[in-house]
Amino acid sequence: MSTPLHVVIAGGGTAGWMAANLFAALCPKERVRVTLVESPDIGIIGVGEGSTPTLKRFFEIIKVPEQVWMPTCNATYKVGIKFNDWSPKSGIHSYRHPFISQTDIFTQRAFEVNCHTRRLGLDTHTRPEDFLINGVLAKKNLGPLTPAHFPFTIQYGYHFDSALLGQFLSEHAQKQGVTHIKKGILAVKTHPDTSIASLLCDDDTEISGDFFIDCTGFRSLLLQQTLGVQFKSYKSNLFNDSAVVLPTSISNTIPSETEATALSAGWCWRIPLQNRFGNGYVYSAEYLSPDSAEEEFRRHLGILDSDDSCRHLSMKVGQVEQHWKKNCLALGLSQGFIEPLEATALHLVQICAEMFISKWQQGDYSSTHQQAFNAFAKERFDRVRDYIVAHYKLNTREDSEYWRDNRENDAISSSLANIINCWFQRKDLTQEIKRQDIGMHWDPISWHCLFSGYGAYPPLAPDQPGKGDHFAEKNIDTFVQGCALNFESHNANLASLLE
Ligand SMILES: Cc1cc2nc3c(=O)[nH]c(=O)nc-3n(C[C@H](O)[C@H](O)[C@H](O)COP(=O)(O)OP(=O)(O)OC[C@H]3O[C@@H](n4cnc5c(N)ncnc54)[C@H](O)[C@@H]3O)c2cc1C
Repeated sequence: MSTPLHVVIAGGGTAGWMAANLFAALCPKERVRVTLVESPDIGIIGVGEGSTPTLKRFFEIIKVPEQVWMPTCNATYKVGIKFNDWSPKSGIHSYRHPFISQTDIFTQRAFEVNCHTRRLGLDTHTRPEDFLINGVLAKKNLGPLTPAHFPFTIQYGYHFDSALLGQFLSEHAQKQGVTHIKKGILAVKTHPDTSIASLLCDDDTEISGDFFIDCTGFRSLLLQQTLGVQFKSYKSNLFNDSAVVLPTSISNTIPSETEATALSAGWCWRIPLQNRFGNGYVYSAEYLSPDSAEEEFRRHLGILDSDDSCRHLSMKVGQVEQHWKKNCLALGLSQGFIEPLEATALHLVQICAEMFISKWQQGDYSSTHQQAFNAFAKERFDRVRDYIVAHYKLNTREDSEYWRDNRENDAISSSLANIINCWFQRKDLTQEIKRQDIGMHWDPISWHCLFSGYGAYPPLAPDQPGKGDHFAEKNIDTFVQGCALNFESHNANLASLLE
C-alpha cells in the first residue's frame, strides 16, 4: 500500500481547525494524514461568533452532538438576524431575516404574493418575520428544537465563543489522528516548479508535505506571500475596514437571534452567548476615527464610563484571485473576508473545504478540478458580497455622508443591479434568480426579506380596493402562532443540552 499523502495545515484559528476536522472526517486515513502547525505566539482573530445553518452540517459530518460541543463553547441557538435602524425613512425601525425552515413552504407563497401586490402600490402586510416561523420564534424568544411529534425541520445556526470553539475543535481533531505542532513558521520553501515543499519553523525544523492549506489569517503566508496570488479588494463595494469589540453581560432571557444595528458609519452586532453578549462595531475608518467609533459604540452599549477596554481590529475585505494554486489551498481569512453582516465567513470556510475535498478526491488527489473549484469559490464570495452590498445600497439613512455615499455607490455587480432592477420594475424576482442561477447563494425568499425589510416599495396607490392581503385572507398569523406553540423557550432549549 502506498504511503498516505501528507496534508499540512498552517494556522490554528477556527479555519485551520475546521479544515483539520473535515479532512480527518472525509478523507480515508490510508490516503491522507493531516498535520496542523500553529504559532504559540501569534494569536487567532477570535471574533467570529455567529454562524449560518451550514455549521449544523459541519458537526454532523464530524459526528459531534450539540450536547457535547455547545455547553463547552457557551454556544446558543440562532434562528436569524434582526436588523435595526437600517431604513428609518421607510418607517421600518427593524426587521428580521429568519433562516428559512420547512414550515415556511405553507406561508412563503403568501409572503411573495403580498410583496408583489405591495410593489404594485396596494397596502399589504409584508413583514418577513410575521410569515416565517423562525421570525416568530425569535420574537417570542423561543428556541428551534422541535418535539418528536413535530414533523418539520427548523433551520438554525449557532452563536459561540470562538476561542473555546477553536480549543474544542483542536482536541477533537487530535482524537481523530491529526498531528498538532506548536511552532512559528519562519519561511516557506518551494520546489523548482514553485509548488510548496516545506515550512521552515522557528526551531530550525522543517515540515514537508504533499499538500498545504493556508489558514494563517489575513497574513496569508503561503498563498499570497509565497505563491504570489493577488488579493482583489472589495473596497469599492464595501466601505467597512475596521471594528471595535467589547463583550457585555448577558440578559436573563437569552435571545435566539443576532442583532445588527446601524450606527453613524457602520453597524453594531450583538451576539448572545450563554455567559455574555459579544458586541462589535464594524465601521469605515475613512468616515470615522477609531476614537470616535469607540465612543459611539460605548454610548450605544450604554457603558460610556466603563473601565473595560475595547479591542480594535482592521479588516481586509475581498478575496484572492485564486483560492487553490499549485499544491496550496487557502481557507479562512487568508482566502478572503466579507464583513460579518450575515456571519458568512465560517460558512465559506466550510463549503470551500467540503467542495475542495470532494473535487480533490474526484480527481484522485490531483489538480484536475482546480479550475472548477476556483470558479466555485470566486462565485461564492462574489454573490455573498452582493447580498451584503444590497443592505447598504437600499439603506434610507440620512444621518451621515457614509450612508448617503453607500446608497449612491454605483460599484455594484451586474448580477445585483439586475436583481434590484427586477424588484423595482415589479418583475418576477424568483424567475430572475433562476435565470441567473444564483439561488444556491441566497434564495428568492431571502431577497424578499431584504427588500421588504427595507420597505423598498413605491408609494401606496391613492385607490386601495381593500382586497388581496394574503396575510389576512390566508390566516397566516393563526398558522404560524399555532406552529410556535410546539416550541420551548430558548433558555429551556439550552438547559436541555445539560440533561
Ligand atoms: C470583526 C470581525 C467579526 C467577525 N464575525 C464573524 C462572524 O460572526 N461569523 C463568522 O463566521 N465569521 C466572522 N468573522 C470571521 C472569522 O473570525 C474568521 O473567518 C475565523 O475566525 C477564521 O479565522 P482564521 O482561522 O482564518 O484566522 P485567524 O483566527 O487569524 O488564525 C490564524 C492562525 O494562523 C497562525 N499563524 C499566522 N502566522 C503564522 C506563522 N508565521 N507561523 C505559525 N502560525 C501562524 C496563527 O497562530 C493562528 O493560529 C469575523 C471577523 C472579523 C474581523
